[in-house]
Amino acid sequence: MFLLASCLLFSYHKENYICLDLRSIPIVIGGLYFGIGPFLCLAVIVLRGIYGLDMGFLLNALLYGSLSILFWKVHPLFYIQPPKKRMIITIMAGILLNIVTIIFVEIASPPDNRIDAYFAYLVIPSLGLGMISYAIEFVSKNTQMRLELVKSEKLHAVEQMGAAISHEIRNPLTAAIGFVQLLQEQSLAPAKRNEYLGIIKGELESAERVIQDYLTFSKPALDKRESIDVNRELQQIVKILKPTANKHSAKIVANLAVSAYVYGDRQRFHQCFINVIKNSIESMPHGGFILIETKTSHTDITITIKDTGVGMTEEQVERLGEPYYSTKGSKGTGLGMMVVYSIIRAMEGKIYVTSEVGTGTIFRFVLPLKHK
Ligand code: ADP
Ligand code: MG
Repeated sequence: MFLLASCLLFSYHKENYICLDLRSIPIVIGGLYFGIGPFLCLAVIVLRGIYGLDMGFLLNALLYGSLSILFWKVHPLFYIQPPKKRMIITIMAGILLNIVTIIFVEIASPPDNRIDAYFAYLVIPSLGLGMISYAIEFVSKNTQMRLELVKSEKLHAVEQMGAAISHEIRNPLTAAIGFVQLLQEQSLAPAKRNEYLGIIKGELESAERVIQDYLTFSKPALDKRESIDVNRELQQIVKILKPTANKHSAKIVANLAVSAYVYGDRQRFHQCFINVIKNSIESMPHGGFILIETKTSHTDITITIKDTGVGMTEEQVERLGEPYYSTKGSKGTGLGMMVVYSIIRAMEGKIYVTSEVGTGTIFRFVLPLKHK
């Protein structure tokens, strides 16, 4: 519309009622590619009317009136053509439209300088149309290719994940079934029975966690958006992980700032930090310290999780968040950090990692605070 107006405004007036301009370019492009031909034609008629209701206006209204019907009919057919054909059609339509204009001009008032007029009507708009339609086709082809690539990558990831998941879930389930069989023994002492039940619960929970991670990955967009009290949640997570930490003789120290709120899915926030702190615990086979700190600024909150574990090399840090990247052999899934990254991304946060082999690792999560 803007293009059209500028073509008409900056047009070259040979005589009172004849305007030479490049209006055919926006008309053809808008009509064929965007399906707004009738609207643009109407605009031309109205805009031309501003110059006066004369002979030129009548011819103009006749031409663009019929064109608007033509564009309306042709646009759906145009869109199903292959890109090359679309470009040719665009240029041909431009030439055709200008030939009709020339015929009208010849009837109304033959131009003194034919070569100039023909050049202005035929060559320049065709060149312009060719260039614009090429640009449109180029951009749309690129966009389409990118979408297809993303889709095939996603499919591949899901396939791989399916295989990994069935493996990850089968292990704990097999173990649980084994202990259920032991439980069927009538002569089992109550203490043993309790121990087995504890193991079964643990195995089932680990299977549940794998499914949870998988679901989070396949649906990274946040389901719910609610206020999350960061400190309260972190304290709860620490409480949940205390027994696991004790088993590894790891001590968790929380040093939390004044309460602050972020926006997101509370359950996923939980899952995210459980995954991170679990990794920290697992990185300390001989015990150590985990420090959890929060600090707020005007706009965001920084959650720091620091451990005195085995640390990572630069290459390992770089690969964090890659699906199935794990250094824990059959004990690891390599899904934990991937889920962490997708949750933080969905919350529009950032993750910074510094790590040194033998010294430990520091994770920094910067999340935007919820606006009041
Ligand atoms: P998993 O824990 O199943 O191996 P994750 O995605 O949770 O998978 O972690 C991927 C890998 O990142 C781990 O195998 C480990 O090598 C490394 N890693 C993650 N966190 C830490 C940490 N705090 N200290 C050392 N290495 C870590
Ligand atoms: Mg992990």
